[in-house]
Amino acid sequence: MMSFLLGLKCLCSRISHDFSRKGSAVCGRVCADQWMRLCSRTPESTKESDHDSLMLKHLISKIKSTGPISVAEYMREVLTNPFTGYYCHRDVLGAQGDFITSPEISQIFGELLGVWCISEWMAAGKPKTFQLVELGPGRGTLASDVLRVFSQLRSVLRESEISVHLVEVSPKLGEVQAELLTEGEQHLLHDPSGAIYKSGTTKTKLPISWYKDLEDVPKGFSFYLAHEFFDVLPIHKFQKTKQGWREMLIDIEPKSPEKLRFVLAPSATLASKALIQRDDERDHVEICPEAGVIIQSLASRISEDGGAALIADYGHNGTKTDTFRGFRGHQLHEVLTAPGTADLTADVDFSYLRQMTEGKVVSLGPIAQQQFLKNMGIDVRLQVLLRNASDPAIHKDLIGAYDMIMNPEKMGKRFKFFALLPHNRLIISRHGTRTEKCGPTAPPVAGFSELQL
Ligand code: SAH
Repeated sequence: MMSFLLGLKCLCSRISHDFSRKGSAVCGRVCADQWMRLCSRTPESTKESDHDSLMLKHLISKIKSTGPISVAEYMREVLTNPFTGYYCHRDVLGAQGDFITSPEISQIFGELLGVWCISEWMAAGKPKTFQLVELGPGRGTLASDVLRVFSQLRSVLRESEISVHLVEVSPKLGEVQAELLTEGEQHLLHDPSGAIYKSGTTKTKLPISWYKDLEDVPKGFSFYLAHEFFDVLPIHKFQKTKQGWREMLIDIEPKSPEKLRFVLAPSATLASKALIQRDDERDHVEICPEAGVIIQSLASRISEDGGAALIADYGHNGTKTDTFRGFRGHQLHEVLTAPGTADLTADVDFSYLRQMTEGKVVSLGPIAQQQFLKNMGIDVRLQVLLRNASDPAIHKDLIGAYDMIMNPEKMGKRFKFFALLPHNRLIISRHGTRTEKCGPTAPPVAGFSELQL
């Protein structure tokens, strides 16, 4: 155990000194101060372009022909419709976009996730081959930081054969990812109708492939990362009424036919019959069956082939009710207004994800981001960086970015980490509580236990 902890400490310090490889520490990213300013700015223009109003027209004609649609169908159309979907044609992240995520704020975030993968790879007996699979990679920033850690710690990973697999529905974000992670689109193989729609080699010389669906990713020992991915998957919304649970649907506003409104289904729908647990004490619930299907697939893969999944998102443990909301220009946006121009999201129900693993794997968490990153040694890392940077502006950026992702009032508490691991990694105690396996061969799971680096 002690040698494992020392090993992890050593890994952390070996990557710390290389932060300057990107220029200055966090200069490539928006710093926390800038971000706070952006949060309070009014979007420059709220005028819809013709392209944006196409989505509203499309939804209205859909509702006219088939009747009110579920919130899940609305979210799916608005976010990922291949022609007009929000994610499909623009880079929506970062200072100029609609929202910003932890990997975009601080590169330490991705680097610690890279260290997490290596520590689980060591705990699994250092298999010769492994895959890094990321769901919804955004701009590719998290993958880039993880791969930099893999590259810097090549001597630790020895001759391991590593391949990279990105599950991404957005052609536009796929291009942004390729730009960052490879030598550019022109060096990649393209097969738009194939299960692997793009493939090539990363800047760090690893094979890389793009998929639209997790089901097409080859099976094998893998680390699955999903950061702010589950919250954009389509949810169904249900309201408890005197007549029983009723699904919330989206219809055209009768008084102004260019607007949408929420209505309750007059009787039980297929979704309310299939998804609602009758004994739920809440009066409103949101359920994301697509997340359930993905979790079931991850659980089967991990139990059959080994590896682990690390899911980070905002969410709750089956306690919250109405969390569906929109973001545009870093501000809250009414979910039914100007569909396709704003991000739509709902808090992840981690208790539902746990239930969907059906006991095939063990789950850890959800624990707060602040706790996870602290356990991963973020404070040690920050101190090393501060010591190695002489420019006061870099100090300010480093501290600002740290505060943004760690402060409980900002992203530290709302964001949670949740992991899936094979059963042989952990044992269940006689009292039914999960404990880590004892003995020298089973080190603690980094991030979920205090490692005292
Ligand atoms: N993980 C990134 C981006 C989060 S935004 C970060 O934290 O910065 C959500 C990402 O998921 C985008 O890349 C979006 O295009 C992708 N996405 C949304 N729905 C998807 C789906 N059904 N399948 C695969 N990717 C999806």
